[in-house]
Amino acid sequence: MTHQAYSEHRQRTGLVAHERYFWHDPGNGIGFSGPTTFVQPDRHPESPDTKRRFLALLDVSGLTSQLERIEPRAATRAELQYFHTTRYIDEVARISAAGGGEIGDSLTIGAGSYEIAQLSAGGCIAAIDAVVAGRVRNAYALVRPPGHHADADGGRGFCVFGNAVIAIRHAQRVHGIGRVAVVDWDVHHGNGTETAFIDDPSVLTISVHQDRCYPVDSGQLDVVGTGDARNTNLNIPLPPGSGHGAYVTAFERAVVPALLRFRPELIVIASGLDASALDPLGRMMCTSRTYRELARQVLAAADSTAGGRVVATHEGGYSNGYVPFCGLAVVETFADIRTEANDPYLGELECQAGHALEPHQSAAVDAAAAQAARVPTGG
Ligand code: ZN
Repeated sequence: MTHQAYSEHRQRTGLVAHERYFWHDPGNGIGFSGPTTFVQPDRHPESPDTKRRFLALLDVSGLTSQLERIEPRAATRAELQYFHTTRYIDEVARISAAGGGEIGDSLTIGAGSYEIAQLSAGGCIAAIDAVVAGRVRNAYALVRPPGHHADADGGRGFCVFGNAVIAIRHAQRVHGIGRVAVVDWDVHHGNGTETAFIDDPSVLTISVHQDRCYPVDSGQLDVVGTGDARNTNLNIPLPPGSGHGAYVTAFERAVVPALLRFRPELIVIASGLDASALDPLGRMMCTSRTYRELARQVLAAADSTAGGRVVATHEGGYSNGYVPFCGLAVVETFADIRTEANDPYLGELECQAGHALEPHQSAAVDAAAAQAARVPTGG
């Protein structure tokens, strides 16, 4: 490859996707509940549909053909052990081999889910490999099942293995990356990622989420990290009803300043698309324009601190209609390409109230900005 060809190549955006991601079967359910005596079985919210339709929109918009496809591989058992206990890994493998069943709080897996979850974590590892090696500039890992709620010794909240945690440990152990930042914009708190790095000063974890949505007992602003890692965990709980104004301001005043202080060598976005105005499992007002702007801000911060190295790992997002357009906006921004596939929901959503920054939302952002100013400086 000539130097010029390499340079052009490096400017491209990577995409991880795989048919088998859509085969993980979380069973029936409504919201966070499985069917009970009086709850009629329905399709589980964490169904393959949102992700399959997101990928389909990338395809029909013409964007996929301008991306660099990255083949996922299965994460090895040793890689899963970067985060998880052998007891939990064995339990997932056993229940998966037995045909599936309940395995934690709001988590049911199906036959073969163990191998698919390995492929999900391994897809994030492959994205990291491609970005760190310079084969692509940045990458979106459209993986499933999601990962940010998973704990070391148990899964929860539709999440089996901590995909981002495992991929970050891989970046540090195999590639010698030192400082990493996580920006989790899923509407739910990234509790598993927080727990993994709560005492690790090499990883700045930032979670912007709906205040006490899920898990209801985590994500508070005063959880800031322990020991040497004090002030390297930044929770930004926003009030229900927050929209474009609150999110953009929170990123401008807290997320980006925290990134610029910490100066990571790599940024991982835990990309849940469930803060949208149409999501059934969140109560926020974001639109595709919001996600486009959040991605732009993180990429700009990455350009000035992390050599542009950004990997997104797909997390939640439960609106069949709207996840694809929010996701397209993110990947278009990653690739710096605007397709002709305009968001048909945007006009109607932006006519609704709730997009401007409200005083009570501004107060939440002020508190987060004060905490962001305590993030240790590095790099
Ligand atoms: Zn979520």
